[in-house]
Amino acid sequence: MIRPISQEIADYLKTHDRFLIMAHQKPDGDAIGSAIALGLGLKKCRKKVDYYVQTPVEQKLAGLPEINCFNRNMADHYDALVFVDCSTLSFAFKPKELPPHDCSIVIDHHQSNEGYGVLNHVEITSATAELVFRLLMQMNIELDAEIADAVFAGISTDTGSFQFSNVTAETHEIVAQLYAYRNDFAVLSKQLHCEKSYDQMKMYGAAASVLKVLDDGRIGWVLLDHATIQKYGGDINITDDIANIGMNTLGIMVAATIKEITPGQYRISLRSRSPFDIDVSVIAKRYGGGGHKRAAGLTFAGDLMEIQNALIDLVAGSIDR
Ligand code: 5GP
Ligand code: MN
Repeated sequence: MIRPISQEIADYLKTHDRFLIMAHQKPDGDAIGSAIALGLGLKKCRKKVDYYVQTPVEQKLAGLPEINCFNRNMADHYDALVFVDCSTLSFAFKPKELPPHDCSIVIDHHQSNEGYGVLNHVEITSATAELVFRLLMQMNIELDAEIADAVFAGISTDTGSFQFSNVTAETHEIVAQLYAYRNDFAVLSKQLHCEKSYDQMKMYGAAASVLKVLDDGRIGWVLLDHATIQKYGGDINITDDIANIGMNTLGIMVAATIKEITPGQYRISLRSRSPFDIDVSVIAKRYGGGGHKRAAGLTFAGDLMEIQNALIDLVAGSIDR
């Protein structure tokens, strides 16, 4: 049984016509997949859908054709702005001024989401794409191969190809249903998790080679400086799996990946490893970021020692030594 999400959201979408779909900055596979699955689903009910989503998208997602419809039009007025996979309004990729709208809808799976929409469905699932799939089922929308790809891309990305502890039986039930529209997801899986351009592979190698450990090996620390990022084509070539380099190193409980996007300004990805009970979103939130217990992010400009010390304190406070 696939559970419904908020009936109010389903009803609002059914009874209105014009929607603008938005997601978080630097959209990942779940943000893009959720936006596309929802957009295509609504178009199947003859709704008018525009997307305001940050481009260019990472190369591994560029094969999803609906990306070509991103940022084409902006209407004078929307019945609702729909935010997917975005835990705070400030983290949304949005125009300077939001277009006039009657309602705002938030569909998200981040525990740090406080519900900044008029209608909100916030539920901890592996990916926002799970919630979008459930919504489309609830609205009796017939899926197709393109929607199935988008849902798969979202779930596969946010579960690290079904490896993370956020995977549930329902995650697998949803994915099982996608096979009604595709024989397999082998090509897409490889694109999402394995294949890299030459520059992306070199960036990955550079990140692995600067891995350090702190706190007696409990904390992994990868600092990609601005020059390295520029050398390998800019931050668009920083693949998601770079954030897992620390996590995949035995002994490490918490991994920080620091990307110097502009000199002195850092995007920081934090990860914590199962089964340790360490909530990295606490630190992300303290600095204006957000995310989940096991994967969170923030933007930081300052002395990185502050982040190191915060991580050391977090580990000390969470783990019974
Ligand atoms: P990543 O480290 O992959 O950028 O992000 C990990 C998780 O934290 C993602 O679910 C992402 O949406 C969330 N996240 C990352 N950076 C921020 C941020 O600056 N603000 C908020 N609210 N969430 C973030
Ligand atoms: Mn997500």
